[in-house]
Amino acid sequence: MNKEVIIIGGGIIGLCSAYYLHKEGHQVTILDQSSMDSGASYVNAGYLSPSHIIPLAAPGMMKKGLKWMFNPSSPLFIKPRLNSDFLQWGWAFNTSCSTKNVTNGIAAIKDIAILGRDLYAEIKSEEKFSFQLEKKGLLMVCQTEKMLEEETHIAKIAAKEGLPTRELSLDELKKIEPNVQLNAKGAVHYQCDWHTTPQTFMDEMKTFLKASGVQILKNEKVVDIIIKNNEITLIATKNKSYTADEFVLAAGSWSHLLSKKLGIQILLEAGKGYRINSKRELGITIPAILAEAKVAITPMQGFTRFAGTMEITGINHTINKVRVEAIANATQRYYPEIKLSSEEKEAVACGLRPVSPDGIPYIGKSTRCKNLTIATGHAMMGWSMGPSTGKLVSEIISDQKPSLNLEPYHPDRRF
Ligand SMILES: Cc1cc2nc3c(=O)[nH]c(=O)nc-3n(C[C@H](O)[C@H](O)[C@H](O)COP(=O)(O)OP(=O)(O)OC[C@H]3O[C@@H](n4cnc5c(N)ncnc54)[C@H](O)[C@@H]3O)c2cc1C
Repeated sequence: MNKEVIIIGGGIIGLCSAYYLHKEGHQVTILDQSSMDSGASYVNAGYLSPSHIIPLAAPGMMKKGLKWMFNPSSPLFIKPRLNSDFLQWGWAFNTSCSTKNVTNGIAAIKDIAILGRDLYAEIKSEEKFSFQLEKKGLLMVCQTEKMLEEETHIAKIAAKEGLPTRELSLDELKKIEPNVQLNAKGAVHYQCDWHTTPQTFMDEMKTFLKASGVQILKNEKVVDIIIKNNEITLIATKNKSYTADEFVLAAGSWSHLLSKKLGIQILLEAGKGYRINSKRELGITIPAILAEAKVAITPMQGFTRFAGTMEITGINHTINKVRVEAIANATQRYYPEIKLSSEEKEAVACGLRPVSPDGIPYIGKSTRCKNLTIATGHAMMGWSMGPSTGKLVSEIISDQKPSLNLEPYHPDRRF
């Protein structure tokens, strides 16, 4: 049966949900509080990276996070706040930093990331989109022996999971990336990863959805949700109220603020990250993560992107110049010839990753509300998992057998 569906949030998760719901014949409307041209789904590093199978909440991460709290240029910064949402998230994150979470995380993250990656290719060929989709893999570039050992260990875990990886000496690294000087000990090459230019995909998808009859309403902030007998009866923006058969909550880092109105607790923190673009010809042809500095570099369509940091400081878009400098400085430590200019750094932009405590997204229906599908909490992997999440959302609403076991993503799970 075709249904009327309202999606709250038009980032990658909202757009991909709209795409698959529309394909199933549903009548879809997207409401977004912004003008839908900035934020996490636009500033990300564009990686489709099944290689990232280890969740952020891994053994030792809390200790590292505490140490990094006192370093203004560290890649991870958690600002403690006396706020019950933050305290509960912090407690759950700490509990999740365990071997058990890593084991569960690998299973939950790998399949949805592989499916997401492959669906990008399917969408591109079916809709004749022209967004960049390159299959050059991802380099984890290491400057120290210790980091190379750590990365090699992770690569072995990935290889056991069937993800093709290759260890590279500095000479081998120079051979596959010959046009730029590199200061490194070696690297791990994940051949399973692909990359894209996010803005192009977002623009093509919005154009396609509009032309297909999906309503996209910008600057429409959902401020209230009315629920009766476990069902949403109405949602309200400042100007209007809306009804529908089914609703999707894909509001990224804001999702928990809306779910609270339904009595559904989703533990979520915004993890701010920055991107710097350079339109100069820099000679980088293969995406690379600078392993010690946690900076991601991507050769995109017409520019190179430098992205990094995870600042857990609440919902804000304040630019911390020290961290922007840290991204630029790290780049120059690994690529001595690349000095990002003041203009490039001034044009920095940021976005908020919706971070669940265990690093696993929330996808599915809460028992508290029959006609709401939650799709958020994708943290560092939301770009990779966009199409697969959208497909799962559509399967849930269309009462079809889901492509993946939904159990690990249950929004009612406790930590
Ligand atoms: C620097 C950086 C690099 C990254 N690199 C990668 C990468 O290489 N690969 C990868 O897989 N992932 C990456 N990510 C993560 C990925 O970008 C995010 O996980 C993903 O974009 C989240 O998408 P989303 O749709 O859930 O949220 P968003 O893109 O934030 O979209 C949510 C939307 O909801 C709207 N909204 C919120 N509240 C309301 C409301 N009340 N009413 C109406 N609308 C509302 C917002 O305006 C927003 O448009 C990166 C993120 C960052 C910041």
